[in-house]
Amino acid sequence: MPVPIEVSDSQFKSYQACPRKWGYVKLLDLRQDENKDSMHLGNAFHDGMEEYMKTGSMDKAHEAAIKALIESKPTNLDYVKMLVPSMLIGMALHWVPSFLKEFEPVSTEEWFTSTPNEEIVRIRGFKDLVAKHRQTGQRCVFDYKTSSDMYFRTLASTLESNNQLARYATAERRQYGSWPMLVALVFAIKPKSKDVGVACENARCDPSLYRMLVQQVTPKFAEFALAVEQNDILMAQQMKFYRDLVAERGPQACDYIPANFDNCFNYGSMCGFAQGCHSAHPAHQNLKKAG
Ligand code: SF4
Repeated sequence: MPVPIEVSDSQFKSYQACPRKWGYVKLLDLRQDENKDSMHLGNAFHDGMEEYMKTGSMDKAHEAAIKALIESKPTNLDYVKMLVPSMLIGMALHWVPSFLKEFEPVSTEEWFTSTPNEEIVRIRGFKDLVAKHRQTGQRCVFDYKTSSDMYFRTLASTLESNNQLARYATAERRQYGSWPMLVALVFAIKPKSKDVGVACENARCDPSLYRMLVQQVTPKFAEFALAVEQNDILMAQQMKFYRDLVAERGPQACDYIPANFDNCFNYGSMCGFAQGCHSAHPAHQNLKKAG
């Protein structure tokens, strides 16, 4: 019986951006040299929100967030140790009350697996927050994002074709037999100021930093979600092929995984593998010299 590959939403994104980079990280377990401060802030905020939605205690939320930050050691630890608690307070003041009027929380960080093809792929991940719509009793899935205002606008303009939300919708359908009523992205926008006092003040007091993008699971969105699932199966088939190839022939087999050189320089920074990239490809050697 073939062993399916387990893939998360972020792995699909990583594979789409550069299949070889995905191979380095997921198949060879190599770490890139990159700044992960943004990710650490996001993870700490997630941990804090999870605790707050479970217990209603802001003290416990702060504790969970600070613990995550101390463990992950971002380079700007002093700044984020003050900012994240302020963002949690802002979220609790400006988003949670209106959310609770309409929805009743069911679970936080709900683990899921969805198997659209038993031989090829098992899609897995966490749903940040699942809630019941109070009026209809239907399930709804929410995902937290800590982002810039620009990233929020980009996602807002492409919501109807958001693959992550599509994956939540199909996972719900496979797990529970029916589509959720809606899937949504909940944003805590990071204040721009580098002055920690100003940033914290804004995080606590500016309601416009807390926004929600809601996608109703209409027949049209459901159709899109099923198309995403079909495409995921095709992608996973390739990922599985490379996984098995590397398992059989060793790390050098990563050279057979296509490289996306358009992605080496992205969002203002160079790929973490660009210097000393583990491939003998001339394009990588040039990047190494340039570094
Ligand atoms: S340097 Fe470019 S091609 Fe090589 S792994 Fe990074 S993004 Fe992919």
